[in-house]
Amino acid sequence: MTINIAHALTKIPTELRSYLAPVLSHHEFSGQLTPHQVNQLASMANVAEATLPLSLLPLAAAYALTPISGFQVGAITRGVSGTLYFGANMEFARTQMGQTIHAEQAAIAHAWMSGETMLTDIIIDTPPCGHCRQFMNELTGSEKLHIQLPDKPARLLRHYLPEDFGPGDLGITSGLMAEKNHNKHIDTSDELVLCAIRALNQSHAPYSENFSGISVQMAGQQIYMGSYAENAAFNPSLPPLQVALVQARMGGHEPDEIQRVVLAEMKNAKVSHFTDTQYMLEQINPSLKCEYHQID
Ligand SMILES: [Zn+2]
Repeated sequence: MTINIAHALTKIPTELRSYLAPVLSHHEFSGQLTPHQVNQLASMANVAEATLPLSLLPLAAAYALTPISGFQVGAITRGVSGTLYFGANMEFARTQMGQTIHAEQAAIAHAWMSGETMLTDIIIDTPPCGHCRQFMNELTGSEKLHIQLPDKPARLLRHYLPEDFGPGDLGITSGLMAEKNHNKHIDTSDELVLCAIRALNQSHAPYSENFSGISVQMAGQQIYMGSYAENAAFNPSLPPLQVALVQARMGGHEPDEIQRVVLAEMKNAKVSHFTDTQYMLEQINPSLKCEYHQID
């Protein structure tokens, strides 16, 4: 299921197409637009910067991977830096539905892995599902997070998730995307293993304390990292492999381009990603084996 940017460009306002076509087709484009690009696009479309991303959602949706539903969803997040990050839903054939990634989760993971430490807005064209509202509630600064839908004023997450249950109810004060460093190390010169440890060190796992990270290497040698994103309600957690798959997708790749995968997690933790990760990888490519490191 390839990413069809040319087709997506036909769904956005005409006045933005000639500016965006070369940006999106550049080999280094990874589903992000800088504050400068956002400013230029908003003036071309004669809309406010706050609402511009609504026009760009078809571009984000082009990154969807939907072998089960065929239903493409796009989401865009705005980091505190002002950069926009695309996200799209991802489904994985032959696996259970719980492995699915929603567009909002993808756009959040994309911003987080790109170094953003907080989001100001999430832009989507249909109200977020309950699963995503709970996922967003884990974010640091969630009390100030705005959700922008078409033809509606931007509203706080609180409006869409009243009487919430969140990290504070479990005594957790540092939310998802807050800067972290768990200071774990491994003695190796293997770059892919070092990337997995780097991903582990910034993971958000305050409930299980199973700090975890994954790194994947593609056929073209590109490396993508995924940190584990845990949730107070447990189920909307995003496993490290999913976060890495989002990164690879935003880099323009198909999952079957993955050639090598390293998972690092804590030794003797209450939960483990190993079995699920190996199972997912086998469905993507039966010859893929998860290289595994347990950290003290
Ligand atoms: Zn959702």
